[in-house]
Amino acid sequence: MRLDLSALSGVRLYEPEALTLVVGAGTTLAGIEKVLAAEGQMLAFEPDRRQDSTIGGIAAANASGPRRVQVGACRDAMLGVRFVTGEGEIVKNGGRVMKNVTGYDLVKLLAGSRGTLGVLTEVSLKTAPIPPVSRTLVLAGATPDVAVAALTSALTGPYDISGAGWLAGTGAMIRVEGLKGSVDLRSQQLAARLADFGTLSEGDGAHWAGLVPASAGAGDDAGDLWRIVCLPSEAPALLARLPAPLALDWGGSLIWVAMPAGRIPDLGPFSGQASRVHAQPGAQALQLPAINPVVAGLNAGLRAKFDPRGIFAGAAGKAA
Ligand SMILES: Cc1cc2nc3c(=O)[nH]c(=O)nc-3n(C[C@H](O)[C@H](O)[C@H](O)COP(=O)(O)OP(=O)(O)OC[C@H]3O[C@@H](n4cnc5c(N)ncnc54)[C@H](O)[C@@H]3O)c2cc1C
Repeated sequence: MRLDLSALSGVRLYEPEALTLVVGAGTTLAGIEKVLAAEGQMLAFEPDRRQDSTIGGIAAANASGPRRVQVGACRDAMLGVRFVTGEGEIVKNGGRVMKNVTGYDLVKLLAGSRGTLGVLTEVSLKTAPIPPVSRTLVLAGATPDVAVAALTSALTGPYDISGAGWLAGTGAMIRVEGLKGSVDLRSQQLAARLADFGTLSEGDGAHWAGLVPASAGAGDDAGDLWRIVCLPSEAPALLARLPAPLALDWGGSLIWVAMPAGRIPDLGPFSGQASRVHAQPGAQALQLPAINPVVAGLNAGLRAKFDPRGIFAGAAGKAA
C-alpha cells in the first residue's frame, strides 16, 4: 500500500545562521536544495540526486552520498523527527540543536528504518555551507581493484577528502573542497601520493551524481540493482565474486552491482550487508540470507513495540 505524504511538505523553519532546517517529510530534495542554495548552504551528507526524492524517504533510507566519508551519514545530520507509530501515536524526538538527546535517541533509530517503525511526518536537519571550491581528481581508466587501493591510500592520508569513488567508464574519483589555496596544495600532494597508480587529472564534478545508480540499466534483461556495504578491506574479495560493478563509493565500502534478475549474490562471509534496491517490474520477493540473530531479535522487538499489528511490515522495500 502506498501512503501519499505530499501534503506534508514545506519548510517549517529555516535558520541559516544556526544551520538548522525543519521540513515536512513529503518535501522534495529539489525544494530543499533551492531554499538552501539561496543562502549558500547544502545538505552536507549529499543525498541521491533524484530531485523528486522526499526528505522522509531519504531519512528512512539513511540515504547518504559521497561526502559521507568526510561529514557522516544522513543520520548524523538529523537533529529531530516527528513520526506516527503503528498504533497511531504521534511521537516527537530530538530537537533543533545538535546536543545529547535525553532519553532514547529515536532519531538515530528512525534513520534507515525504511518505514518499518513509523511514518515520518517532520524532519529537523543540520545544514552546512557550500564549500567555495570543489575539485574532482580522476585516475582515468583505473579498474575497481586499483581504484580501491588508490582510494584507500588517499583516504588514509591527511587530505580531508570529501569523496572517494569509482564509476564505470570514468575511473577512480577523489574530491577535495575548501579554500582555493588549500585545495591546490592538497591536489598536488595527492598527485604525488598516488603517482604509482597513474596520473591524476581534473575531472567533471557532475560524475559524483552517478555514484547512486537509479537502476541496473536499461532494457528488460538489465537485471536487479544491488547495494552491498562492507569494510573497504573486504571490497577486493567481494569484487572478485561479483559481476563488474556499476559504481563504488566510500573508498570501496559501498558497491553497486547489477545481478541477473532474481539472483542473490554469493558473497561468502563478510561483515556488512547486501540489499536489492531495484528490481524489474513484477519481480518476486527475495528470501535474503538470515542476518545476525542478535540483530534480528532486536529488530523484531522494536517492530513489536512500534508496530504491534504489523501495519508497516511491507514498507522496507518495494523490491527486496
Ligand atoms: C535500500 C535503499 C538503499 C538506498 N541507498 C542509498 C544510498 O546509499 N545513497 C543514496 O544517496 N541514496 C540511497 N537510497 C535512496 C533513494 O535513492 C531515494 O533517495 C530515497 O529512497 C527517497 O526516495 P523517495 O522519497 O521516493 O522514497 P521511497 O523510495 O518511496 O522510499 C524509500 C524507503 O523509505 C520509506 N519511506 C519513505 N517515506 C517515508 C516516511 N515519510 N516515513 C517513513 N518511511 C518512509 C519507504 O517505505 C522505503 O522503505 C536508497 C534507497 C533504498 C530504498
